[in-house]
Amino acid sequence: MSFRAVRLSAGAITLANSETRAPAETEVAVRPSLVSIDWFDIASMLRIDDATAFTPGREFVGTVVETGSKSAALRRQRIVSSPDIVCGLCDLCRGGLSTHCRDRRLLGSPGCDGCLREQFNLPTMNVCAISESLPDDLAIFAAPLARALQAAWFTHLEGRPYITVLGRGSEALLAAQAMAKLNASVRVVSSCEATLHAADRLGVRHRPLEQVGRREDQDVVLDVSAPGGSITTAAAMVRPRGKIVLLRPLSPPGFDMPDETDLRPLVENEIELLGSRGARLREAVTMLERGEINVEGLITQRFKLEHAAKAFAAAQDPSQLKVVIEM
Ligand SMILES: [Zn+2]
Repeated sequence: MSFRAVRLSAGAITLANSETRAPAETEVAVRPSLVSIDWFDIASMLRIDDATAFTPGREFVGTVVETGSKSAALRRQRIVSSPDIVCGLCDLCRGGLSTHCRDRRLLGSPGCDGCLREQFNLPTMNVCAISESLPDDLAIFAAPLARALQAAWFTHLEGRPYITVLGRGSEALLAAQAMAKLNASVRVVSSCEATLHAADRLGVRHRPLEQVGRREDQDVVLDVSAPGGSITTAAAMVRPRGKIVLLRPLSPPGFDMPDETDLRPLVENEIELLGSRGARLREAVTMLERGEINVEGLITQRFKLEHAAKAFAAAQDPSQLKVVIEM
């Protein structure tokens, strides 16, 4: 069958028809209802010259419309999904580290078409069912919240730690709420006014970046800024023997934005530097279903599928917290 799909190719974002085969026995066919645009999508668009044409998108809420023979129970379920397509067979998959699968592919990247399509097939093992009562506007935050929860899991600390979330957008605001569940005193530090306003509205403590002293007094600094940001700022905020956790957005292949960082403070203050990439999707869905995370006002613009190009243009505006496309 033929469905409409967004294609990202050199110089254009277009809507094309794409063919979809029946799902294999370990797959489901999904019809997304809401898709969000993340930093990876924008970065892919900005370096589109060398990109092979592909369908972007990895954060969605959808419904299973058809199933392979081994996943019939998922039929008509509303779902969210992990963005990592993994083999399930390699030593890392078998050893419980499928996030680091040796044959890992990322949904919505060159060579692995994403969810900005009216219908597509997905491995059953990616699927996380959600309750009928969880609205799309909440469920769309499951994937970024799941990544924040993984970072929180890396951050396990005794007592009531002081945590700074450094960065902007809905990612920073979700991460701050995830971190607050650790019995932590959490603040968002940002140079983005829209992020600070939203933090105020959501009851998340916040400070403008330029007003924050570099006091080396935070137990943890969670850095959610885009690649190429400086770790130096985080290093000046974290206490000796504290942790910096990098919860950076994923980058498209070949996207070259190295951090230019003086690593001496890390040595002199014995700072632990951790990267976080994985996700705790089931946990994130449960928290959203229980109403434990406030996402009110985090969707700042919405577009229809036929206006995908406009949505991508809007998502580049740093004052947008989250741009979504209704399918
Ligand atoms: Zn594998």
